[in-house]
Amino acid sequence: MDTIERLIAIFQKFPGIGPRQAQRFVQFLLRSPPSMRRELIELLQSLGGAVKQCAQCMRFSSSSGKTCSMCSNPERNQKLLAVVAVDADISALERGGTYRGLYFVLGGTISLASEKTNNLRIKQLFDSLPQRIHAGLEEVILAFPANPEGDATAIQVREKLTEVLSPLLTITALGRGLSTGSELEYADPETIKSALESRR
Ligand SMILES: [Zn+2]
Repeated sequence: MDTIERLIAIFQKFPGIGPRQAQRFVQFLLRSPPSMRRELIELLQSLGGAVKQCAQCMRFSSSSGKTCSMCSNPERNQKLLAVVAVDADISALERGGTYRGLYFVLGGTISLASEKTNNLRIKQLFDSLPQRIHAGLEEVILAFPANPEGDATAIQVREKLTEVLSPLLTITALGRGLSTGSELEYADPETIKSALESRR
């Protein structure tokens, strides 16, 4: 395979990318200035080294410390913890512009086909709670996508949290300002804002 074919083959492995889109990416890169390709190369290389998973929220970041810039920011509201499915949902909530609390990335949602939860960080979330409560945590916000998998995940996490920590913590979920089926990462800032305000 030549360089172009190999690149197309790699882009095709990306989630949601078919052969036509993969080809368009390569064409785009071919037309891009060399400076952009250099930046892309540098960023890809640093993914292996500089980017680490935050020990507290579990998101990937290029922070040099053990925890990411959000977890170590004293300005963030320690009373609030939003539990999200994936890293991209943090950016979505941040775009809403009103949430200033902390985050925890669960690593996905429950798969309804297999009901498997073993790849989710439910245990890590629970293990982190005593320390978070000590630091002032009052409310856990379940911020999962508005689809059956997201709902199932919210029900299960809520049940477990209530069982163990009901007098200590308030547990809420995003309000349904989000249209059904919508992924947080595609929601506009206004929708995110109202989903946060109408949480219950
Ligand atoms: Zn973090």
